[in-house]
Amino acid sequence: MHESPVLETVWDARLAELADRGLYRTLRRVESGQGPTFRLDGHEVINFGSNDYLTLAADSRVVEAAGRAILTYGWGAGASRLVSGTHVAHAQLEERLAAFCRTERALVFGSGYLANLAAIGAAAGKGDVVFSDQRNHASIVDAVRLSGARAVVYPHRDYDALEDLLGEDDGEGRKTIVTDALFSVDGCFADLRRLVALRERYGALLCIDEAHALGVYGESGRGVAELQQVEAGIDIRVATLSKAIGGVGGVVCGSRALIELLINTARPFIFSTAPPPAACVAAVAALDIIESDEGRARREKLLTTARNLRRELRQRHNLATTDSQIIPLIVGDPALAVDLSTRLLEHGIFVPAFRPPSVPEGTSRLRISLTSEHQSAHVDALLEAIDKLV
Ligand SMILES: *Cc1c(COP(=O)(O)O)cnc(C)c1O
Repeated sequence: MHESPVLETVWDARLAELADRGLYRTLRRVESGQGPTFRLDGHEVINFGSNDYLTLAADSRVVEAAGRAILTYGWGAGASRLVSGTHVAHAQLEERLAAFCRTERALVFGSGYLANLAAIGAAAGKGDVVFSDQRNHASIVDAVRLSGARAVVYPHRDYDALEDLLGEDDGEGRKTIVTDALFSVDGCFADLRRLVALRERYGALLCIDEAHALGVYGESGRGVAELQQVEAGIDIRVATLSKAIGGVGGVVCGSRALIELLINTARPFIFSTAPPPAACVAAVAALDIIESDEGRARREKLLTTARNLRRELRQRHNLATTDSQIIPLIVGDPALAVDLSTRLLEHGIFVPAFRPPSVPEGTSRLRISLTSEHQSAHVDALLEAIDKLV
């Protein structure tokens, strides 16, 4: 192999610097499907590290639907859909997602990350301004940068500050407000009612990212917009098929004109291969479950488990915890977060450490994420192990 010794030295120096700051990352090896327990680095452990909130990633109905689709359609999609065509499985999933989210249309992408790049690229460009919550997901941050619009970052969930910024901005361009609906490492909700009011007052577009909420919140599982009863006030809804839907892919839901514009101009759609048709069939099978009584029962079970765990953590450890199935235990120092995660793993419990740049400096944490199939025995084991460590 050709090697460049100079570059190797530069890379090693950067890695050494990361290690010094407690930010060196290594990959653990998974040897089973996802679930409330799984095999990690050779051991069966309880899994609090997955966004598979409704436990559908390894559900036999989803897996069998995907398997049958692979046997019928093969695996790869071949190319971008503008080149090799829209598969019937892409079209069926999009019709289903649009009906589910009650929007005119939906468009599927290879990932939620790509869906955000596309959505914000359609909302804003050079000369426009995007108002973005300080804690928005990295894919939103990157999307705003790539759009060429001016970014105005408002303090996390500080809508008075946002209103001031909107009022001060007298630029010519279009205004877009973008937010995570449920913040992915803090577990708290955006106040979409307030944002819809600001959208109306300032003539802005509102784009929300329901990545951690689709399938989980609202009576029907349509997300935080349904929960807060503001669906009609939202211009662009982004979500992922990789969390509660249990598979892979991203989606933008919105008007006919928005989706046609994305098909015609969104670079993540034009220049990236479509997701495999079987992945779309699997997502439809997951939506079948999410929209059934069983789906409702899974949502309720998940939220009950989350409420109970949050209460226990508050009572036992005086921890300020937030509102959802995502429960951060903030420890501050990155090396300490990793150390705690490692020690929990010695007790057979996997809770990943989150460090910068995934979280702000000084707020490294363990991030517990719950799923509908976590039983009280799993949660009790977690609480006992935490008691031993703190
Ligand atoms: C995970 C996540 C994404 C990206 O979705 P992928 O399908 O994993 O690429 C986008 N936004 C938020 C808020 C997320 O948490």
